[in-house]
Amino acid sequence: MHRARWVLPISAPPIENGFLRVVGQRIVEVGKATSGWNGSAATDWGDVALLPAWVNPHTHLEFSLLAEPLGASGISFAAWIRKVVADRRETACRGETWQAVEAGWRASRRAGVAALGEIATRPFHAPPERYTDLVGTVFFEAIGLRETAARAAWEEIGALIDRITPSVRQLEWGLSPHAPYSVRPDLFARLCRLAAARKLPLAFHLAESPEELELLAHGTGPLVAVLEEFDAWDARAIPPGTRPLDYLHCLVSLPRVLLIHGNYLDQRERRFLARHRRSMSVVYCPRTHEFFQHTAYPLEQMIHAGVHVVVGTDSKASSPDLSIAEELRCIRRRHPGIRDDLIVAMGTLEAARALGLSQRFGRLAPGFEARFLAADLANPRDPWSFW
Ligand SMILES: [Zn+2]
Repeated sequence: MHRARWVLPISAPPIENGFLRVVGQRIVEVGKATSGWNGSAATDWGDVALLPAWVNPHTHLEFSLLAEPLGASGISFAAWIRKVVADRRETACRGETWQAVEAGWRASRRAGVAALGEIATRPFHAPPERYTDLVGTVFFEAIGLRETAARAAWEEIGALIDRITPSVRQLEWGLSPHAPYSVRPDLFARLCRLAAARKLPLAFHLAESPEELELLAHGTGPLVAVLEEFDAWDARAIPPGTRPLDYLHCLVSLPRVLLIHGNYLDQRERRFLARHRRSMSVVYCPRTHEFFQHTAYPLEQMIHAGVHVVVGTDSKASSPDLSIAEELRCIRRRHPGIRDDLIVAMGTLEAARALGLSQRFGRLAPGFEARFLAADLANPRDPWSFW
């Protein structure tokens, strides 16, 4: 039994003087402490709010050993990509990639995160069996704009997917074509067909920067120069006039899709996502967005259009830590018109749905995992004053 001034089920209104009854790892009852309450066998948490542990639908744990983001705030996206590639190589050369993944998962748990969506990059630094301590989804990333790189990525992903079991107890597998500027459209389409056939979730960075949109529309811009430096550019891979919407059309038959960022989606694309909100979620990464000093995130427009928006941290390469609570505080600061309960749901109930975990995490309700946080309240009469 756990009693507190407030219990926030998230899927239902706050309960003043609420309690949770837990048996083993599960919640079996939630209610008001005046009914069904056995005070003698209880932990009384006092004037706090009990709420579900966070769910982080998007991160790259391989950057978790970084002390701070790569570059100064306002860095251009192209300059940052250079730093990311260099850091990834150095970490791999030192043999520290797996250590970083484990450190990131530990830091996430310390920050109250119960489950996450992790992007694993090639060459896959660990056999799938090593991820069994994680809870959530590991998305295997594919990169390849040139034909030879795309072929190698496809062969490696195909072999991996054939080898892994459909899922282990705590963990699901997924695919992640990295982004439109790093994955040729035919590789993207093949990965979509594979995900649809195997019923795998898919994560895809989309509409993250103006540089990406310029490359798609005209085949020009600073990202082209970066790709040329890496010998990864293919001027014929992407047809001129391409828009993020062209990629969205390929994703409609997939069971579950996470579109990462969506900073520069236009109105037509937002409407499309709203129509497919049952299977498609957009993952807003507020502090990463702030780090790049992008133009204002269209969160209000997304919500108004009916897009399913959730919140992720992205990695420590663009955010100071892996705390969902801090991401939500950033939303509260930058989007003061959005209600507190909706903001908290974006890091709990809705984030769990985006990861296919809506029956296990993100709510305090019977049958759900007993993973909850106790948050101090600035005003004990206001259950949302824990920011
Ligand atoms: Zn990312």
